[in-house]
Amino acid sequence: MSENRKEYRIETKCIQSGYQPATGEPRVMPIVQSTTFKYDSGEAMGKLFALEAAGYFYTRLQNPTNDNVAAKICDLEGGVAAMLTSSGQAANFYALFNICEAGDHFVCASQVYGGTYNLFANTVKKMGIEATFVDPDADDETIHACFKENTKAVFAETIANAALTVLDIEKFARIAHAHGVPLIVDNTFPTPINCRPFEWGADIVTHSTTKYLDGHATSVGGAIVDSGNFDWDKYADKFPGLTTPDETYHGVVFTERFGKGAFITKATTVLMRDLGSIQAPMNAFLLNIGIETLHLRMARHTENALAIAKYLKNHEQVAWVHYPDLEGDRYYDLAKKYLPKGSCGVLTFGLKTDMQGTERFMDNLQLIAIVTHVADARSCVLHPASHTHRQMSDQELEEGGIKKDLIRLSVGIENVDDLIEDIEQALNKAIN
Ligand SMILES: *Cc1c(COP(=O)(O)O)cnc(C)c1O
Repeated sequence: MSENRKEYRIETKCIQSGYQPATGEPRVMPIVQSTTFKYDSGEAMGKLFALEAAGYFYTRLQNPTNDNVAAKICDLEGGVAAMLTSSGQAANFYALFNICEAGDHFVCASQVYGGTYNLFANTVKKMGIEATFVDPDADDETIHACFKENTKAVFAETIANAALTVLDIEKFARIAHAHGVPLIVDNTFPTPINCRPFEWGADIVTHSTTKYLDGHATSVGGAIVDSGNFDWDKYADKFPGLTTPDETYHGVVFTERFGKGAFITKATTVLMRDLGSIQAPMNAFLLNIGIETLHLRMARHTENALAIAKYLKNHEQVAWVHYPDLEGDRYYDLAKKYLPKGSCGVLTFGLKTDMQGTERFMDNLQLIAIVTHVADARSCVLHPASHTHRQMSDQELEEGGIKKDLIRLSVGIENVDDLIEDIEQALNKAIN
């Protein structure tokens, strides 16, 4: 049915994509809270297990609610196939592990979310997959030099959490493709409202849906979307998991059988089957309600964040402010190119004081809470060097673009004057 639908604008897609009820069906996407699905014959069920027919049989592999929400995110990103995962961590792990195995290597931007850094630098390494981290602002030659014979992917974040570097997506896509590997982009911070990496050459997009997509801090979740653009068969010997027979499915070759759906079908039928990091249908339902207002919220998040960035920049107690949309910011030009509607609601800044003064400032905030979260409706702050990135060494912090005095402020959708007044009173108490 969706084949015949008109291509709607992104605001309409936020509300209408993914689930279209037939006559007499629920208007709101239902939660299919069922682990299993019934079949009239053993043969019909057998065909599903052999991947000879599409259908539901067990929620660990697929669930209609999850599929509807994945289809909505897929449509928002402009992809061809998508899946939900239990968390953003699972999404990034699956996206990578779907094409990398022991003995393989990948290139990763050094400025990525702390959890992603740990996953890639430590846990994935123990599985025999090695990463080379490279400064995303490095010149082409430096990035090219990171590639090896066994390199299988490039990974980066559109806007890095919490360094707020804006990725030159076209540059990274060009370099990845020159080495015959896909570019995987974590698009959590801008969301597809503010940037759609496929339009700039990225091949796979991942999300921590926990952040703006849910937007209300109710449900941890993740998503993977495939653009369908990467030609796995052209580099067949690099990606045997997709291009050679899979004995656990009687010799199915994913690219042959599923074409542009190969990447997501393999991640679902092999990785999800074996590792099982599914999103609960209840969480997918809540995520979907969040996405319905995504376009409204992102506009307000970015508008509020820019106003606060300007206020901080002019404040004499503030040492520095980093927000890509702020004129004069190091990433202003890249932000204008890739994020013309605005970047996101997160900004970072440092105060003209010591660690104690920074802590006093945060403790004195009344409306803005200290929370290990970003990117939801409520404003919150965090000091990464002592919170999320605590396990990183000073050198790792520096390489990850995290200054020791950096305060990460996730600007919510409250009235911006209330937020500024809260910051003002906390600054007065902390520094005077
Ligand atoms: C939070 C976050 C993750 C991890 O997501 P979870 O849902 O917390 O597992 C990955 N990437 C980015 C950019 C994030 O902000």
